[in-house]
Amino acid sequence: MLDVAVIGGGAAGFFAAVNIKILHPDKEVQIFEKSSTCLGKVKISGGGRCNVTHHCFDPVVLSKFYPRGSKELISVFNRFNPQNTIDWFEQQGIRLKTESDGRMFPITDDSQTIINCFLDFCKARKIAIHTRAGIKSITKKDNHFELQLETEVVSCRKLVVSSGSSEVFWNVLAGMGHAIVPPVPSLFTFNIKNDLIEDLPGLSVPKASVKLNVEKSLLKAFKLNDVECTQSGPLLITHWGLSGPAILKLSSIAARLLHHVNYQFEIQISFSNLKLEETLEVLMSFKSQNTKKQIINTPLFDIPNRWWNRLHALTFENTYITWSDISKKDLNKLALNLCAYPMKVDGKSTFKDEFVTAGGVNLKEVDFKTMESKIIPGLYFAGEVLNIDALTGGFNFQAAWSEAWVIAQSV
Ligand SMILES: Cc1cc2nc3c(=O)[nH]c(=O)nc-3n(C[C@H](O)[C@H](O)[C@H](O)COP(=O)(O)OP(=O)(O)OC[C@H]3O[C@@H](n4cnc5c(N)ncnc54)[C@H](O)[C@@H]3O)c2cc1C
Repeated sequence: MLDVAVIGGGAAGFFAAVNIKILHPDKEVQIFEKSSTCLGKVKISGGGRCNVTHHCFDPVVLSKFYPRGSKELISVFNRFNPQNTIDWFEQQGIRLKTESDGRMFPITDDSQTIINCFLDFCKARKIAIHTRAGIKSITKKDNHFELQLETEVVSCRKLVVSSGSSEVFWNVLAGMGHAIVPPVPSLFTFNIKNDLIEDLPGLSVPKASVKLNVEKSLLKAFKLNDVECTQSGPLLITHWGLSGPAILKLSSIAARLLHHVNYQFEIQISFSNLKLEETLEVLMSFKSQNTKKQIINTPLFDIPNRWWNRLHALTFENTYITWSDISKKDLNKLALNLCAYPMKVDGKSTFKDEFVTAGGVNLKEVDFKTMESKIIPGLYFAGEVLNIDALTGGFNFQAAWSEAWVIAQSV
């Protein structure tokens, strides 16, 4: 009988297996992976560079990057945070570097470095990795588990479930009595057809804010407020609509609500990242100092020329209007177009193939001091199988490392 079986050869599964073996070298730990190769998502993560973690060391601040799981993760991050991740990989001979936005990557800029680290460790410490070994069902016996594979049954004393976002396996867990929060996509871009952005892919505004324009009752039903539903950051035009950090954050925070409205909704964009009165103030001040200049030649708020031209055309009939010519009414119209521009969203697209799933094992059924199931003793969870997900930036892997580390301490 195995001491520990790990279901799922992804980031969470490997980190759990390796750390269990570090603490208990004499125990038999084995990984069971359904597909023909392990760590497939690590390989493609971060554009092939693997964004391992984020340069953020305060557990409370870090927890804010998780629209689902933030409360539960604080205690987990108190025990294993990004500094521990940095130290852990350093001990395995892998140095991480920080980019200007806080994302951390191996200095090799190659996700294979992380994969090799895990595979080499397993080889050296004799952690058997079974590929094409999907677990079909689990039977809980008095003191052990029986795992049904295609043609054989494997028994283990403790079981780590790190099967990622697998609908099939969530059904297995549901059959064992666990409540599964229905999965919906998170981290996506918005499909938009609008004259303001048509045929301008690649252009971006460095500081914009995007507000979700939905009824208050809907916000309340999804436990969201106006502050959470207004996200700021760079905004990028794509071939299909809008992307960039402001959009991705909104897609993650409102993932369940946006799924509910079938990705048909309205957003309001502030290209100035300011409210109406503040935008008007900036415009008045600029007008008083630049009376003779043509508005079309003086883009504000770092809006690229071609994008500013579109805003100009939507606001003024006269192409050559100068700042001194502008009426109070038109100034107001310009300000409104700059800070409260409405756009209809019609569907979603994936962001650089990157996505996570919101949903999974209900967090109320997991003891976050140990990551053990409160329903089935001896069964532990780590990674995307849980109803935990984060914004982009290395946070999803950090949650997987931290949860897996806690499991290793408790099994
Ligand atoms: C393109 C892309 C890029 C990403 N980049 C980043 C990034 O740079 N940084 C970051 O933090 N996050 C990133 N993410 C998110 C991150 O990859 C996931 O959050 C993370 O991989 C989750 O790890 P996991 O081990 O829980 O699940 P997974 O990595 O999905 O592993 C689960 C494993 O379980 C196996 N499995 C499922 N069912 C069974 C079964 N019945 N029996 C046996 N095995 C089974 C699956 O085949 C899979 O290999 C990215 C995601 C994508 C899609």
